[in-house]
Amino acid sequence: MGSNMEFQVSNAEETQALAQKLASYLKPQDLILLDGDLGAGKTTFTKGLAKGLGIKKNVKSPTFTLIREYHEGRLPLYHMDVYRLEDTGGADLGLEEYFNGEGVSVVEWSQFVADELPAQYLVVKLLKDETDDDKRTLVFEPHGAHYEQLIANL
Ligand code: ADP
Ligand code: MG
Repeated sequence: MGSNMEFQVSNAEETQALAQKLASYLKPQDLILLDGDLGAGKTTFTKGLAKGLGIKKNVKSPTFTLIREYHEGRLPLYHMDVYRLEDTGGADLGLEEYFNGEGVSVVEWSQFVADELPAQYLVVKLLKDETDDDKRTLVFEPHGAHYEQLIANL
């Protein structure tokens, strides 16, 4: 495993800007797992990714639909929030088709589909600040050489 990269951001716009920058380096079948509590900024980060891919549509949380697809950008974006699955698992979701598809997959609450994940991905941890509501620490944790190279661009 490569070394992590850590960024401190002061507000939601900075989180989106970092995601937007990452988006410009993404390739088909890239997989990003967003890790963090409710309200940490996982969906906000995904909005930035979408912007960076040239998606103009407003990205909404797929909490109830589980998966939303966006096809208007440089690459398709598959945004998944599998919180509702909890420990029933994601075997029926057909996630593999997304992971092996033409686009970029982003998963919120990926611990609930741990068995369905491939070996290589980028984990982005979003950590809230104890004193400031708008501050976050973003930790980029690459699993695989491709993702090490990817975050070296940040
Ligand atoms: P999650 O998907 O992790 O539950 P959301 O992205 O839906 O979280 O919500 C995060 C909330 O926190 C949004 O209202 C956002 O504007 C706010 N926020 C404040 N500061 C930040 C920050 N630095 N990064 C991301 N979101 C932030
Ligand atoms: Mg969310």
